[in-house]
Amino acid sequence: MKQDPASPKAGMVYLVGSGPGALDLLTLRAARLIGEADAIVYDHLIPDGVLDLARPDAQRIYVGKETSNHTVPQEELNLLLVRLAREGLTVVRLKGGDPFVFGRGGEELETLQEHGVRFAVVPGVTAAAGCASHAGIPLTHRDHAQTVTFATGHLKDGTINLDWPALARPNQTVVFYMGIGGIDEICRQMIAHGLPPTHPAAIVQNGTTPRQRVLTGNLASLPGKAHAAKVTSPALIIVGSVVGLQGKLAWFGETLADAAA
Ligand code: SAH
Repeated sequence: MKQDPASPKAGMVYLVGSGPGALDLLTLRAARLIGEADAIVYDHLIPDGVLDLARPDAQRIYVGKETSNHTVPQEELNLLLVRLAREGLTVVRLKGGDPFVFGRGGEELETLQEHGVRFAVVPGVTAAAGCASHAGIPLTHRDHAQTVTFATGHLKDGTINLDWPALARPNQTVVFYMGIGGIDEICRQMIAHGLPPTHPAAIVQNGTTPRQRVLTGNLASLPGKAHAAKVTSPALIIVGSVVGLQGKLAWFGETLADAAA
């Protein structure tokens, strides 16, 4: 059944990006909508303190989503949003980073569209932008990278089946989201497809937050470093010669540099 968008009771879902971790990287629009919402449906990767911006009487619904441990199955979650909107509520569906970058935002909107629920999307600072800026690793640089690629190191079926020849091309930066569990495989494949083992690579964990850690090294050294430093999610892997600039441009948080690199 389609809702009548003109009806004052018609609900609305805002798919809102909450940025990579630091609360003040939230957009003004996101902050306003969070403050107005009747219900906030949120994941685990949202900035500390963001829910304090919500009305005290707003419903807060956690649908946490860690890679292998989905608290609420995606189909159920999609229908939850439909149900809340049908109650006439203004719903903020809050996601980490940007909702259209590895956030399944598209899948959630398709269900809303099928059910005739009105929606809007608010972009957020994606983890690649937040981590790169706060690690001092420019994603592009005229001397290093003319292309930047965002890839996921975690596919629906648990494999990493990426276009390795394309990812291993020179003069580009590749940012792997959700790649920490697969770091050995990622670095191995990048070398197998033509990049030298000495090609610079870094990990940024908890980027933009006071817990940020940056590990720099190269394709050969980074996996061992990641295991030794017990890197856990959320973390990004950045591969490219731009990582070499980090020593000069780092301005925030802690860096574990690779003496051998
Ligand atoms: N929509 C989000 C990404 C969701 S996928 C965005 O645009 O940023 C979740 C992955 O994002 C994590 O596994 C991790 O790889 C990355 N990520 C999110 N926040 C991060 C942070 N603060 N530091 C490092 N990586 C982060």
